[in-house]
Amino acid sequence: MSPDRPRRQRGLRRIPRVAADDFTAAAVEARRALLREAAGGPLAHIGGAPVPPESARGKVENLVGHAQVPLGIAGPLLADTSLGECEVFVPMATTEGALVASYSRGMAILKSAGGARARQTREGLTQNPILVFPDARRAEEAARTIRARLGPMQAVCAATTRHGRLVSLDAEVVGRRVILRLVFTTGDAIGINMAARATDLCLAELARETGAEARYVHGQDVEKRANARALVEGRGRSVVCDATVGRDLLLEAARTTPEELVAIQRTYAVGFAQLGTQNWTVQSANGLAAVMLACGQDVAYVTECATGLLDFDVTGGGDLYCSIWLPSLLVGTVGGGTGQGTATECLDVLGCRGEGKAAHFAELLGAICLAGDLSLMAAFCAHEFSAAHERLGRNRPPAAESDSTP
Ligand code: NAP
Repeated sequence: MSPDRPRRQRGLRRIPRVAADDFTAAAVEARRALLREAAGGPLAHIGGAPVPPESARGKVENLVGHAQVPLGIAGPLLADTSLGECEVFVPMATTEGALVASYSRGMAILKSAGGARARQTREGLTQNPILVFPDARRAEEAARTIRARLGPMQAVCAATTRHGRLVSLDAEVVGRRVILRLVFTTGDAIGINMAARATDLCLAELARETGAEARYVHGQDVEKRANARALVEGRGRSVVCDATVGRDLLLEAARTTPEELVAIQRTYAVGFAQLGTQNWTVQSANGLAAVMLACGQDVAYVTECATGLLDFDVTGGGDLYCSIWLPSLLVGTVGGGTGQGTATECLDVLGCRGEGKAAHFAELLGAICLAGDLSLMAAFCAHEFSAAHERLGRNRPPAAESDSTP
């Protein structure tokens, strides 16, 4: 299957479901057939074919096998991204019952509303190492020197990576320490390996030039940590996604109104402000973790990726305007775990495999998160949330079989 195949047109079929029992081999095979048809080729690993052990090289040590997480599909998702309009099924790996159904419902509402528009608005992987000096005066002098060294440091980076590029270099004085801010573009990879290596080399050179008494390459350690800078500055890829959903559509599909959704979102915002959280979305961590797990991403980055803001308004015509902003998406379509087994196939299902697809992938994640938040907020408004979980997500292991203790 070519990763560069033409964008799919609108008109994917509904996901087949069997009311009596949706977990039989036949029900699962019907969905696999639909997915093969949509992806335009075989999906051997999603169908259960094992991956060769050597494909795990560079991704894990002491390999013993591959962990298994149930994989479902949501959608179709209709989105307008920087690559044009597309309609895709969304692979989601999760053990939270009701999650795929919730996202699927949100996607159905967005599709009926004409789809969501998503765009990457900024790109740049930051690294924030720290240099230490005897006192603040020496730190200030060093910061001035460092700010003037972008060109030479770009040359240092260019010697280590073809796709990673240092685009800015700044230095901030905090007492006798200088917090550096190196920003990289990283092609279609998350780029953390290439940026970490380049930063290490730059920091050693800058420490030598400024006479620093100590250097810490992960000095201000934003990596895999919810942090205020992630919301203010963004890290990785920043994406904005929005849609307008008609009042009648909301009433029919979700039994709620634009006014109720705006009211609940305002109430949540009060709660979020009191929490001091950087995640002002409702369930973006759910959708991000499930798609990232399916698509071979480093799932620990959900800590940063789930930074964001959800916003609802009533339009002049009485419809719902909804948007989501995710400023710190650390995702890639090349490198890391993207090149093996089900991950490659799931990226194919999304039309996001390989070169030239990372921005598109991040934009689809924005649309997926908007769908999930819209669906969950609507369920809260209609008081349907716990009933849906009770019906779809409650595990009831038979006690007599699972418990053998006397
Ligand atoms: P990577 O797999 O280490 O590197 C991507 C590779 O693909 C590079 O060798 C790059 O070559 C090459 N490449 C080919 N085509 C490319 C394209 N179109 N765009 C970008 N690169 C292209 O991936 P990574 O994103 O840098 O690192 C992700 C991995 O690092 C994950 O497995 C993650 O878990 C792990 N990780 C590392 C750290 C760390 O501090 N080092 C921290 C957290 C996670 P060039 O370099 O020559 O351009």
